[in-house]
Amino acid sequence: MSSIIKLLPENVANQIAAGEVVQRPSSVVKELLENSIDAEANNIRLIIKDSGKTLIQVVDNGIGMSSKDIKLCFLRHATSKIKQSKDLFDLKFMGFRGEALSSIASVSQMSIISNTDAQTEIGNKIKINGGQLVLQEEQVLKRGTSVSVENLFFNIPARRNFLKSDSVELRHIIDEFHRISLINHNINFTLINNGNEIFNLKKSIFKERIIRVFGKSTLEKLVPISEVTDFVKINGFIYKPDFARKTKTAQFFFVNKRFIKNQHLNHAVKSAYEGLIDDKYYPSYFLSFEVPNNTIDVNIHPNKTEVRFENDQSIYAVLKSSVKHSLGQFNISPTIDFENGVKYNTPYDYKYKSPDIPKISVDRSYNPFEIEKMIDVKIDDFETEESISKINFSDNSISFPSFQIDGKYVISKNSSGLVIINQHRAHQRILYEKFLKEFCSKPKLSQALIFPIKLDLSKKEINVISGLKTNLIAIGFKFSKFTKSEIELSAFNPIFDKESIEGFFRDIIVDHENDLNKINSSLNDFMARVFSKSHSSKSKKSLILQEQHSLINNLFACKEPSVSPFNQKIFKVIPLDSIENKILK
Ligand code: ADP
Ligand code: MG
Repeated sequence: MSSIIKLLPENVANQIAAGEVVQRPSSVVKELLENSIDAEANNIRLIIKDSGKTLIQVVDNGIGMSSKDIKLCFLRHATSKIKQSKDLFDLKFMGFRGEALSSIASVSQMSIISNTDAQTEIGNKIKINGGQLVLQEEQVLKRGTSVSVENLFFNIPARRNFLKSDSVELRHIIDEFHRISLINHNINFTLINNGNEIFNLKKSIFKERIIRVFGKSTLEKLVPISEVTDFVKINGFIYKPDFARKTKTAQFFFVNKRFIKNQHLNHAVKSAYEGLIDDKYYPSYFLSFEVPNNTIDVNIHPNKTEVRFENDQSIYAVLKSSVKHSLGQFNISPTIDFENGVKYNTPYDYKYKSPDIPKISVDRSYNPFEIEKMIDVKIDDFETEESISKINFSDNSISFPSFQIDGKYVISKNSSGLVIINQHRAHQRILYEKFLKEFCSKPKLSQALIFPIKLDLSKKEINVISGLKTNLIAIGFKFSKFTKSEIELSAFNPIFDKESIEGFFRDIIVDHENDLNKINSSLNDFMARVFSKSHSSKSKKSLILQEQHSLINNLFACKEPSVSPFNQKIFKVIPLDSIENKILK
């Protein structure tokens, strides 16, 4: 009996593969630009005609290909970038499957000229027509490579007819050009369409590249982000909330210099803007992540725009917190000079201030009702006077004034105006960050209790706690008994206040269901929040001046001073001009 199974001819197999790799001219642009980057070029020119339908040419000054390699490069699975399967887990290159050139060659008329030698100007040229080598000769070219792709899909009319209008295809090409040129800002890039130079980008720092690509007006929109942890380095810029748009235009994540799409990380950024932009608006960002190559998997999608992170949850948390941190800083100091790359001022920059006498003095004709209107909180005039009079004006170490009202708010000033701080929420924020830091660091401390604490809990409640047992042990708790009906605590992490521990266990049970189901809340984050709640003073508390100052200092040393762990606003600045032009007009 004769067999009906046949191996596909090479060029048919390549055309099928091309279906995955080459969707439209912009896919060719991406693959060719990536090859030039892999070839260590620092000068890359992209020349297109009719939005890539007639010609896509990429000329680089990279390492080039030898006369032998040039004859291999367009064959399927021909790659110089991986030699053994373990290389797949430590990828330093943009491409590695050896699929791009073979796929493109099978659906176009392609010619490649390349020269590896910086001394001679003679390179090798090949021409491939629909996957078939049709010409090979020497050609003049400086060191580097030039790849021309003409008449894409000439041999597959169905695909060619499927292409969109020139303006749509050009848009796709420009998008791809942005994704690659933004993050490779140390490379010169030019883009020429039908003889018109659209971009001419000179090697520069990231911020300048963003501005060259998106225009000068971008400068005032950017807020920098920078964060370094053991497992990820984050760098880049986000847009100030005022510049959020209704479309997702400028959203760029790069991982190890590769543009990626990632809904989870996008959610992290979006949620950091919570309360600052309308739900229908999208924040813009240019964020670059550096992670060890072996902690990501880029093989999950043929065009490699999706990656899987080993430390997904942690990166989410770090990203969200650093975006919030930067937004918080920005809220405090709206007039920061980005041009000079100046670090943000904290509102209480002691370091540069010589000690001076606070400007507030006790004025007997002082009318507290004006303040009442101004800050829109209910205050008791008697208590206010009392709190003000508590300030020790002779203390020269103080370089900013503060006072407390209603046992609930600490009022102070910064360079832009009056600052009103909700002290309970500030306290929660400080504790939360302290706990979270402790939970995420190793090793944890544990202090034995002389008398073990028996927790008064129902079976149902014990069930909730047992779900968290490993995490509780990981943060320093030890249990002398842990059964279905009884829990006894024998040691705890001394970062906690012993008196608050029972309250913590009760809070954890109450909060557990609502909170844990919320996406992206890691257990450490959850427990830090519960702890911050059970440890912070709930009712009014009068604070002496030193306590007010330490609250303020600790708050603004936090990563996210503007919102409590429960997403409530911690402070508000009433700008001087609003006092002048609105409140006291
Ligand atoms: P991959 O990039 O996955 O290795 P490609 O099909 O894109 O596969 O390219 C095949 C090979 O051709 C590359 O591995 C590289 O050796 C060579 N090559 C392609 N483009 C260039 C270039 N611009 N400069 C030097 N070598 C190149
Ligand atoms: Mg490639």
